[in-house]
Formats: sequence, C-alpha cells, structure tokens
Amino acid sequence: MNNSISKLLAATIVAGSSIYASAQNPDAKYDNWPTYDGSDLELLVDNSGTHFTLWSPEAQAAKVLLYDTDRNTPATDTLDMKKANQGTWRVSVDKPLYGKFYTFTIKHDGKWLDETPGVWAKAVGTNGKRAAIIDFATTNPEGWSSDKGPKVDNITDVVLYEMHHRDFSMHPNSGIAHKGKFLALTEPATTNPDGLATGIDHLKELGVTHVHILPSYDYNSVDEANLPANTYNWGYDPYNYNAPEGSYSTDPANPSARVREMKQMVKALHDAGIGVVMDVVYNHTANNDDSNFSLTAPGYYYRHRADGSYSDASACGNETASDRKQMSDYIVNSVKYWADEYHIDGFRFDLMAIHDTETMNRVATELKKINPSIFVYGEGWTAGDSPLPVERRALKENVSKMQGIAVFSDDIRDAIKGHYSNAEDRGFVTGKPGNEETVKIGIVASTAHPQVDYSKGNNSKFAYAESPEMIINYVSCHDDLTLTDKLAKSMPGSTEADRQRAARLAQTIVFTSQGTPFMFAGEEVFRDKKGVHNSFKSPDSVNAIDWELKTKNAGQFNYYKELIALRKAHPAFRMTNAADIAKNIVFDKVTEPNLISYSIKNNANGDEWKEIKLVFNGSDEPREVKIPKGDWTVIARDGDLKATGLGTAKGGKMTVEPTSALILAKVK
Ligand code: CA
Repeated sequence: MNNSISKLLAATIVAGSSIYASAQNPDAKYDNWPTYDGSDLELLVDNSGTHFTLWSPEAQAAKVLLYDTDRNTPATDTLDMKKANQGTWRVSVDKPLYGKFYTFTIKHDGKWLDETPGVWAKAVGTNGKRAAIIDFATTNPEGWSSDKGPKVDNITDVVLYEMHHRDFSMHPNSGIAHKGKFLALTEPATTNPDGLATGIDHLKELGVTHVHILPSYDYNSVDEANLPANTYNWGYDPYNYNAPEGSYSTDPANPSARVREMKQMVKALHDAGIGVVMDVVYNHTANNDDSNFSLTAPGYYYRHRADGSYSDASACGNETASDRKQMSDYIVNSVKYWADEYHIDGFRFDLMAIHDTETMNRVATELKKINPSIFVYGEGWTAGDSPLPVERRALKENVSKMQGIAVFSDDIRDAIKGHYSNAEDRGFVTGKPGNEETVKIGIVASTAHPQVDYSKGNNSKFAYAESPEMIINYVSCHDDLTLTDKLAKSMPGSTEADRQRAARLAQTIVFTSQGTPFMFAGEEVFRDKKGVHNSFKSPDSVNAIDWELKTKNAGQFNYYKELIALRKAHPAFRMTNAADIAKNIVFDKVTEPNLISYSIKNNANGDEWKEIKLVFNGSDEPREVKIPKGDWTVIARDGDLKATGLGTAKGGKMTVEPTSALILAKVK
C-alpha cells in the first residue's frame, strides 16, 4: 500500500474530527445478522463426503456449481443449497470430490449474482475464478511435519528484510532458475556472474532473521493465463485471501502447485534458519460489488457512508468492516490458517488502522496460541477517513492499547532521510537541522525517556509506545523512493560515495536503535528503482535488483552485514521494556546541529559490553566530541564498521568524520 497520501490523511484525521462522527449509520442493520464461526465454512472433505457451507444470511437461495476444470468449461452439476443454522446454507455429496472445481452463486433481491469461489477458497485455479477441491496432505514437502521457523523470544531480536518475489530473483544476473517464483527462494548455491551469492545464500550471508514477503495471497492484477507477459504488481489488490498467488507458481492452472511451491519456499527458508512474514491486506478488496465478499453476503463485509456508498479509508475504493463479528472472525481465522497450514512466522498488516484494536488484539492472542514465536506488526495509519471512531482504530497512536502488535515508526524514517513525499527534502543524515529530537524518539523506540522532548517531535508529540516491542524502525520500504533514489534526489551534486556514506549512517541509526529493525531488499547492495516513487506496477526493469551491484558495491554489502552482525551479537540494542531504555540510555549534551551522542550503559539487557558510545554526525563537516578516557574498542568510524572491532581508542577528544557514525565499546 502506498502510504504517500495515507500518512498525510492520518495526521489530519487524528487532529480533526471524523466526517462520519454525526452521520446516520447505514450499517447498523448488520449488527443483527447471525454469524457463523465454524471451521467447516465453504468446504469440508471427510469420510462422509464433500460438504459445502456458505455463510449468507440474507440470500434468498444458494447453489454450488461443480466443474471438471479451472476455466472455460460448463458446469457438470449444480447443487441446490438448503438454509441451515446461523446464516448458513448447506449441501453435501456423499463422496470426496478431489480434483473437481466449484463456485457458489446466491439469489439476492430476486436476482442470481455472478459466480464466486467464495471467501474461504483455499485452493484455486487460474486467476482464482474457481475454487478447487484438493487433498492438502499431498501438498506437503518432505519433512513438513517437523518444519519449524526460528524461535523468537522477543520481536526486538528479529531483523526484517522486506522483499517482492520478482524484485529478488527476476534480474538476468540473479543466477536463479525459477525467476519471480516461490521456488526462487528454494535454490541453493546461486550466484551473480562474479560468483557472489544470490538468493537464499545471499540472505544467509547477510544475516537477516526473517523475510517479509510482499502480498503472496491470490491477488487480482496479474493475468495468470498470460504469464509470459511478465506483468509486475505489488499485489495490494486482494482477490482470494486464503490461497497463494498463481503467478508466483510454476503452473497457475494446477491448484496444488501454488500451495506446494509456497510451502517449499517456507521450508527452504526455515531450513536456512530464516522466518517468513506475510504481508496481509484485509483492509480492502480489489473489487467492490464483484468481490467475493459482495457476491456471498452483499454489503456485510464493508463499511458505508450515510448515502450507502462504499466508504474508502484505503483509498482503493472500499474498506472492510473488522468491527463486524463475521469480518473480525474472518481476519482472525485467515491468519490462523496461514500460520497452521503454511507455517508462517509473522504478519504485516497493511493500513492496519482501518481495523479495530479489538480485532488486532485477537489476532495477536490467537496466533501466539499456535506458536509463541509468531509476531504481528502493521501500518498504524489509514489512507482516508473511516466510519470507525478514531479511538478504536489500530493507529500508531493507539499501539499501547494493543498487546503483541508493533507499528512502523514514520518518526525515525522521515527524521533520518527527510520527508517521504518531498523528494528533495533532507533529513538528519543529509545535513538538515531540526530532526535531532525526532531521531532520538526513534532511538528510544517512541517510549518515555527523561531526556527526550516529545514536544519537539516532527511526527509525534507523545511517547506512544509502552514498549520497544511495539516499534518497527526503518528508513525505507517498497513504498516511496528507495533510500538510494531518495539520497540521489536530495543530495544534488554529490558523488555516489557520498550517498553510500549517507546510506550507511542512515541504516546504522536504524540498526542500533531500540525496537525492531526493518530493511528494504537490495539496499545492502545500494539498489535503486530509477527514481520511480510508486513502482507498484512498474516493469521488472525498474523493480528487479541487479545482482551485479553486489560486486560493484561490495563495501556497502560488507558494511550492512557487519551492522546486522553487531546488532545480533549485542542485546544492548534489543532491550525489551521501556524502563530498561530509560535507565540504560543516556544522551550526551551536544549543541551542534545534526549531531547526536549517547551511551548505552550498565551491560544493558545482559550485554557483555559495559558501555556502548554512539555518535552520529549527519553534517558535512567533521565534529569533535569528548569521550571519557578509558579502553575503548572502535566498532565504527569514518564510514567503516566491524562488529568485532576495527581497533582501539583511549577516549578524550575524538573526531567524528562528516556523515558517519562513531561507535565505541567498553568491556569493563
Ligand atoms: Ca492472482
């Protein structure tokens, strides 16, 4: 979801009053609909046969159509459904129908609506138009029953790497056979033309703990019947929420292939010690009246304006109604399904503030029951106003009302590099003063700290996080300009070496801050997107990572690798509660702009290092700082960084070179 508009609107909404506040609620009627939370919704195959159960309380009649193929063939049978309990319609066939396809159609206001695979299709054919009946046991890769993602005690131990399947493997230089597919992440020993690791080996070398894959459920925009066209899309246009996207499989017409191949991907990553986070987009659907929600239970799943039109907090044409019981259950059951069936380790919620905090709390609680290592985070904003009252929205500002949910810190993001929507705007690392306090807000993960003055925060005016586990730190993601492009646009006349220094400083701040670090795939090799701000449907020539950059920018890659190693080796960067941060982080008094100096003291969070001194110089001039005398190990200096140390220093007056970090460690 592009948040360019969304952030702006979120800010206005929080400040102002909702246009819906006093309007008559056209959705009140839905509160009276019976709901059904059974795990047999839509399809169940068991010893007694094949059972269809459709939730559609207001339908006048309902049918199941059976097919032999996934498209272009007539129905082989039509089954009339009977009205059953809690708003459902049911019909059964006394044998398993494996290999068949089906759709539903309901009679609404005297008219039969278009066919739909339903909202619970777990396997689908080409373009997801017909649901498929498959035996899921046959889709499991070898060793699946013992497959497990990495154990996560605290989300702050995680290092997130956000990737799109095509970005990661499509480039001719990737050396990967299954380009743009789930299977790309199963191929060992792939290299760029110079023999440097790509693919899954690259991830292991870099040291990230989790990949965050852009939408991988079945989305609408890419025509699965025409894969040679190589159409690119981010996938924020959901069609079937509970089946994988067909264009990432080797055969979209074979419903088992996409299921099996996505599981193979998860298994390969797990075998490499890497977890898998799914980007989920329950806040809106690709279509309005033609969505699977509308074709099964017209009206119910969406919020509306007083005139009955779709309200649109997603800026994509509609918004779903998580505050309604059947939709809330749907979201909870859907993520549980992905966690159970696909062993997914985490979920990133798009435009999370369209959902209510109660539903998000249920999501976190239910997922932890399946696997305590699962974590959840999301965008704590909307892209427009909503009938959902501000205090119920899963906003960044409301994160402390949620347990086990984290939000992206746009505070640290914009303060480090400059405003996301104004390409030329500079930030802390590119010499613009006035961002120091907001960077400090990022360093303490938006928790209360005696030396951080929230009244000077650019984006937030209060310590909204009760815990660092509620904050995801980042400086760029798939939305907006890549860090490389942002630096190019905001540093006219600079050299590439200058910009790489700025990128290093930017990510050094992110990766040493409290909270959970998140990076956009390819920034470790200084990838760009040719200056394209919103590349959601740009071709591979814009979006694909050129893996020759790993050779060209080997120094950059090595810096990122060392930075990740530093964070992983030192729990001081990964504190788990606000009290520890307030006690152990001590800021030094500095007067120059674009300079921050602080210590992490007291062997924080069980660290072997007694004290870590971090000085960030975002100006283009050297700065002199006074470091207490003692035996220091130099971890970072003048654009270089090594987790185990570059050398030693005795303290006293030290120079921090322009656009660089000085990091010193004291063992005792
Ligand atoms: Ca699709």
